[in-house]
Amino acid sequence: MNDLEISRAVANILGKYGATAGSSATSSSMPTSANAYVAPAEVAAVPEDPIGKLVAQILNETKSTPKAAQVAAPQTFSVSAADSSNHGIFDSMDQAIEAAHIAQRQYSLCSMADRASFINGIRDVFGQQQVLEQISRMAVEETGMGNFQDKVIKNRVAVLQTPGIEDLTTQACSGDSGLTLVEYSAYGVIGSITPTTNPTETIICNSIGMLAAGNSVVFSPHPRSKQVSLLAIKMINQKLAELGAPANLVTTVVQPSIESTNQLMQHPKVRMLVATGGPAIVNTVMSSGKKAIGAGAGNPPVVVDETANIEKAAKDIVNGCSFDNNLPCVAEKELLVVDQVADFLIHYMKKNGAYLLSDGAQIQKLQSLVLNEKGTGPSTAFVGKGAVYILEQLNITAPADTKIILIETDKSHPFVVHELMMPILPLVRVDNVDAAIDLAIELEHGNRHTAIMHSTNVEKLTKMAKLIQTTIFVKNGPSYAGLGVGGEGYTTFTIAGPTGEGLTSARSFARTRRCVMVESLNIR
Ligand code: NAD
Repeated sequence: MNDLEISRAVANILGKYGATAGSSATSSSMPTSANAYVAPAEVAAVPEDPIGKLVAQILNETKSTPKAAQVAAPQTFSVSAADSSNHGIFDSMDQAIEAAHIAQRQYSLCSMADRASFINGIRDVFGQQQVLEQISRMAVEETGMGNFQDKVIKNRVAVLQTPGIEDLTTQACSGDSGLTLVEYSAYGVIGSITPTTNPTETIICNSIGMLAAGNSVVFSPHPRSKQVSLLAIKMINQKLAELGAPANLVTTVVQPSIESTNQLMQHPKVRMLVATGGPAIVNTVMSSGKKAIGAGAGNPPVVVDETANIEKAAKDIVNGCSFDNNLPCVAEKELLVVDQVADFLIHYMKKNGAYLLSDGAQIQKLQSLVLNEKGTGPSTAFVGKGAVYILEQLNITAPADTKIILIETDKSHPFVVHELMMPILPLVRVDNVDAAIDLAIELEHGNRHTAIMHSTNVEKLTKMAKLIQTTIFVKNGPSYAGLGVGGEGYTTFTIAGPTGEGLTSARSFARTRRCVMVESLNIR
């Protein structure tokens, strides 16, 4: 069937249910979805042809659909929170999932051009400087973490550099037996659990990738970043509604909580779970029994050897470590430097905004200030705080342009061992580059997340990259180059080391399916 025939068939079937031909899925030049879901007065028997069956099935579902899940559906329904002013935000997780489920079925009738248009719409909304600034400022204010300028950069790369539908390449295999296609296909409803450290970045990035792959998404944001997360979801829904997308492609709950996240993980209509966060949530989704993507914690080591361009390395390390006050999971968390060049490196780091804290008593005080009571991780109150602020708590007035606090210590110090997510960088001296590589592997704890190395010795760079097995390995640059900020490649804020998808993109949120035509369509 060609497009015209499909269009006629759909119009014909919709006509049987009381919809006009003008409301057929393919009769409009604007997103076909805008017109495809007019609720029928009555749903008749399912017709024989496959397109008819599909349309009738969806119309049957739409019959009991919440109003918010329809594009133009004048009917009543039982979900009280679901009216068109909710912008995807529901009272309960059940409602959010049901609405997203219906939306996804409707979305499956949209064309690839529709998907592209919806994704461009999301990019348009958040690409506006004032919106970027609004959500970045709000994220800093609400969470008390990170800094405004860097959040703007992070949100901007999420908008501009997250792959869309072009990521869904088709594999073809043709020969005497015909033609086989392998294509990326939607999972259905995805449950996406998002962190407090990159709240809107993750929502923008995952919305683009998950919608590109044909899914709908139910977000479960961190309760501490609720307001800004809900705002981002609302903005996405407003734009999608303007573009005629099925309502509720992106949903959430008005009060995100551990309980609502648990409901999300257990709901049978959620076909895939994506957790972006610490070890607890990653382990939980991995043992949920559902298809799961786990993007977990890192503790990225940065190694500097005697062949490195020390001046540049110093600058890159300070910039990478201080980016958004060290919140990114990729950011430099401990520095391992060959003794021979350690003093030079410290000298240049100080020139680039490092404050060297060398007084033992002050270091002890800092330790009790920024670690939790057991000393097994950071105190939440200091996560994502700036270096100047942290020093102030020690009654140290540092220059306003101080970016990081540098401390020389040994490899077993808690600052070295634990992921702190604040701009405190412990420096450990090592005898030689091989010892540095061994120690980096030990301190990365098998997270397979991110590592950084400054060296001009190609053999040693290769050795470390091979042995440490991290998803991201940055050579001679700041860690954020691995996210596509000043480095080549696309962006993601869901870096899935534990489950192996790596830097996730639309194809990570899709199933592969094979479509086989036997003995035809091979034209060689
Ligand atoms: P977090 O683990 O505290 O929270 C992440 C999400 O999981 C939140 O939505 C939270 O509400 C939920 N959650 C946490 N524990 C839960 C539980 N027991 N039951 C139900 N829900 C639970 O993490 P965070 O502080 O928001 O973010 C920082 C952590 O995330 C760091 O460890 C960082 O490395 C990691 N992170 C990883 C990536 C990545 O791409 N790999 C990206 C960002 C952050």
